[in-house]
Amino acid sequence: MFFNLSGQRVLVVGAGDIALRKISLLERTGAAIRVVAPRVAPEILARAANAALSVDMREFRPEDLDGARLVVVATSQRATNRWIATLCEARALPVNVVDDKDASRFIVPAIIDRDPVLIAISTGGASPVLARRLRERLESLIPKHLGDLASWLRELRHGAVERLRGGAERRRFFETLIDGAAARRFIAGDRRGAERIAQQLLATGATAAPIAGEVVLVGAGPGDPELLTLKGLRALQDADVILYDRLVSNGVLDLARRDAARICVGKSSGAASATQAQINALLIAHARSGKRVVRLKGGDPFIFGRGGEELQALADAGIPYSVVPGITAAMGVAAYAGIPLTHRDHAQSVSFVTGHTRSSGTQPDWRALASGSQTAVFYMGLAHADHIVEQLLAHGAPASRPAAAVAHGTLETQRVVAATLGSLLAACRAAKLESPALLVVGDVVALQPQLAWFSVAAPESLSRTA
Ligand code: SAH
Repeated sequence: MFFNLSGQRVLVVGAGDIALRKISLLERTGAAIRVVAPRVAPEILARAANAALSVDMREFRPEDLDGARLVVVATSQRATNRWIATLCEARALPVNVVDDKDASRFIVPAIIDRDPVLIAISTGGASPVLARRLRERLESLIPKHLGDLASWLRELRHGAVERLRGGAERRRFFETLIDGAAARRFIAGDRRGAERIAQQLLATGATAAPIAGEVVLVGAGPGDPELLTLKGLRALQDADVILYDRLVSNGVLDLARRDAARICVGKSSGAASATQAQINALLIAHARSGKRVVRLKGGDPFIFGRGGEELQALADAGIPYSVVPGITAAMGVAAYAGIPLTHRDHAQSVSFVTGHTRSSGTQPDWRALASGSQTAVFYMGLAHADHIVEQLLAHGAPASRPAAAVAHGTLETQRVVAATLGSLLAACRAAKLESPALLVVGDVVALQPQLAWFSVAAPESLSRTA
């Protein structure tokens, strides 16, 4: 919530260093500040010459609250602070007690000020130091001219409303400005160049045909939202409609544009979900209506993700599309479990194999997968682990070959069961692993206990059964 305090009475009780910091912030809001305290820091007195600040050098009295819109309490007496806070609460007056979150009705965030752009950072009172560190980092990332850019965009609104038809077209006009050369020039100081681009866009945008929709096929990565690519993030923030699979983590969906429509088209494997034909039809229909559609898939869209099939349907329908790769589950799991998929001493190649072979009829090359010096990663393998182990053993893999199952890889709920081909099934049953999970088979798995680093799950989940 950003509170417009311009011309409003704000009462500050206390006049030490901490009060001074709050007063400095409040001065920028245009509020009429009244300070009440028996002793007042000289810097505050010096500011009282300023018409927006008045000082009463005496103890606080409840009548001081009359007419105030906001109260900041910063005396050195905790009990006094709390008493004043209670009085404020009784009057439904928003109150902040410095360094006392429980007594505060509002907290003052760390801010990055690029007027009219204001970025507020709060840790909910958990760690003001963390909030300050974040502010410092963001300060260095956010261009100094951002505020001027915002003011310029505000000036352009009038022309955009006059010359561009719908809200969607206006939004795209501004996105083109902000994402493209216009904003870059403006920030670099070339305001005239930026203005030229804007006027050109306004002139052509008003006459151009409605903007065509498109589909971006985005890999969401294996679960940890920070493993999303920057390009994937951008697509999510530009989307009008997002069609996502159940495998996509909530953390990734939270990164999407707030008012994008979200449609879940997948349920747990086996349970009823939209058919592939229905999904294709939805993608095409939304894109035809001019929407920017993101088709969001767990991991990478081209690894056991039917991304190819969906693109074929889009190509047939003449819908423009692009693809943003994602970190596939095997790579995410390998990294977070500490299983290098290749290693000069142990594995010269790696195979990604679907565990769904029995139902589809076509079989992988079991003999090759069973041979040494390579790593085999089985997707969708947990339910068919018995078949996979049986085939590998039948094609010559020794029962002593290291093998692991990793569930919920890269998430806080990640669990690793490291075993051997001979003991994997029993170990998985004992650990009661839940999908999604990968099976990793190969000598590299023997390195897992030494290389494991990501340990958010309870320690008993890291059970190694010989
Ligand atoms: N396109 C996806 C795979 C889809 S198939 C990708 O590139 O990762 C679904 C299978 O992926 C699941 O059955 C499971 O075997 C695997 N999987 C996906 N996310 C996983 C995760 N976080 N941990 C372990 N396995 C995962």
